[in-house]
Amino acid sequence: MKAPHNIKTTVSILLIFLTCLFALNRIMPRVIINDSVPSEEFSMARALDHLKIISEKPHFVSSSAHERVRVYLVTELEKLGLEVEIQETQVLGQKNRTGTKVHNILTRIKGSEPGKALMLLSHYDSEVSTSYGASDAGSGVVTILESVRAYLAKGIQPKNDIIVLISDAEELGLLGAQGFVDKHPWSKDVGLVLNFEARGSGGPVLMFVETNQGNQNLIRAFDRANISRPFSNSLFYSIYKLLPNDTDLTIFRKNADVQGYNFAFIDDHFDYHTALDNYERLDRNTLQHEASYLMPALDYFQWRISMSFLLKPI
Ligand SMILES: [Zn+2]
Repeated sequence: MKAPHNIKTTVSILLIFLTCLFALNRIMPRVIINDSVPSEEFSMARALDHLKIISEKPHFVSSSAHERVRVYLVTELEKLGLEVEIQETQVLGQKNRTGTKVHNILTRIKGSEPGKALMLLSHYDSEVSTSYGASDAGSGVVTILESVRAYLAKGIQPKNDIIVLISDAEELGLLGAQGFVDKHPWSKDVGLVLNFEARGSGGPVLMFVETNQGNQNLIRAFDRANISRPFSNSLFYSIYKLLPNDTDLTIFRKNADVQGYNFAFIDDHFDYHTALDNYERLDRNTLQHEASYLMPALDYFQWRISMSFLLKPI
């Protein structure tokens, strides 16, 4: 007996939906929050402590909360024994002709070998609105802060220098990144960027390469970096290119021909740039997924691989 056409269709859609759900469940790590994580490992509890303070209020450029967040981040980086620089410079945006004075937060960990540096990048300003900036991009900022702390606790000197840039005024048109790339002397040292962004409050963290050249070596390196739950495909970058949004990494690619990896999540996208982008709504499993990229990536890109291999445009 032939099943009616609409039953077959319904069953097929249901099966596809369940398969997708199963696949996504396997991609996302399950977060464990406890206070007894060894100091060399990423601690969700510590990351959330930072995030709660950063996302207490909307902290768009020129707000008092914006300055408070900057002071907090500088203090936390200094607690790790790092020397912190604030790059203060006037920038006129090349895209929308908006100008402002930016205050980029910068620090550098010295490597054991000469050569190009790895950059860890995210932005600390929130959108000029009611957004609390917990996901966009507080999540990226605390992932970097806590991962760098854990990395330093291992006591391993990296091969290449690591530059941390917590950029300013991303929401006004990537102005902090532009100020760094066009004006800061360290910009010519950067070989590869890991950029952390958000366009929602949850879901798996996607990786897509942003490059002007071929990306074969970058994909190979990513494959070998021992990342436990990688989630990527070539479609992501194609879709991203069609969207009006750019990220700070776009400035590195366009103005300085520096390539890198973008890490971003997009579930609950209706939270983006609204008051729903807050501490409570950021999915903790998403934050754990973000950390599950950066911790092994730091080990791999700084210790086991030469930057010159990555930078060959194949
Ligand atoms: Zn952002």
